[in-house]
Amino acid sequence: MEGKTIMIVGAGFMGAGIAQVAAQAGYKVRLYDISEPAVENGIAGIKKILDKNVDKGKMAQTDMDAALALIVPSTSLDDAKDCEMVIEAVFENFELKKEIFQKLDEICSPETILATNTSSIPITKIAAAVKRPDKFIGMHFFSPVPVMKLCEIIRGIKTSDDAVKVTTEIAEKMGKVTVISKDVPGFIVNRINAAFRNEAYRCMEEGVATIEDIDKAIKFGLNHPMGPFELADFVGLDVGFNVASTLYAGYKDSRFAPNATLEKLNISGDLGRKTGKGWYDYTSGEKKPRTDVQF
Ligand code: NAD
Repeated sequence: MEGKTIMIVGAGFMGAGIAQVAAQAGYKVRLYDISEPAVENGIAGIKKILDKNVDKGKMAQTDMDAALALIVPSTSLDDAKDCEMVIEAVFENFELKKEIFQKLDEICSPETILATNTSSIPITKIAAAVKRPDKFIGMHFFSPVPVMKLCEIIRGIKTSDDAVKVTTEIAEKMGKVTVISKDVPGFIVNRINAAFRNEAYRCMEEGVATIEDIDKAIKFGLNHPMGPFELADFVGLDVGFNVASTLYAGYKDSRFAPNATLEKLNISGDLGRKTGKGWYDYTSGEKKPRTDVQF
């Protein structure tokens, strides 16, 4: 599919990242969102990242210009008409994704592969809304997309071998390492990480060690770049709570039951770095242990 055209639906955090890696891989990209400001915002974000790469000497200005020239803004889904692939990254809402894919199903050629970057909605459920479930697939990128190497490729129950092959080739051309997962809640990474994180929370609640020492143990004992509490704060405790709730609903297994202290922090509005407090306190500008709560 070299030189071919890919539409990215949704120019938010993930969509813009996917558009960037696709353009850097040489694909022609249509970056679609509901309004011009939303698309422009996505493109401005890409430009900012590429500018930084050029400033740091990691990228040539000519490569940056070439990548940006491949990204064409769009506010009309009709622009997907001649695309070989569409990758959707809009809000995590089934009805919204279903509506978009049903429109794309009418607009696109029957050969076009439709992919979703959903984190939690079953691929088979969205695929059932289109007339081409064999050409429907999950492409689960990780944030930030230009930095994180993995892309999980998720097969719905009817996804064809050919769709898996083509999608894997595209993701790899975008510089990603790919793995293939069945369509199960959390796929591979979020499932394992949710159980791992819950165990860290249990250790803290049982008084096995402090939050700081659990993070230290995992960083230096397992070579993780961040401990489970730091990472949870970085991603957002609301996101972590939603992931745990989805997995618990899917598996009905206590390994995934949303942790009670995590729930209390969510109720209190302490969602991690973005609100200044989560498992740690960031209000001084540095990461510090919390002194205002009893864990
Ligand atoms: P985001 O809020 O940054 O972006 C969502 C974008 O969708 C916005 O730009 C919004 O304008 C756009 N949008 C909303 N309605 C639309 C419509 N009708 N048509 C076109 N665009 C529309 O969200 P995000 O973090 O980029 O997440 C997008 C998807 O990626 C979600 O399904 C999420 O579960 C998944 N995901 C997110 C992460 C992450 O870490 N943020 C990781 C993996 C997967």
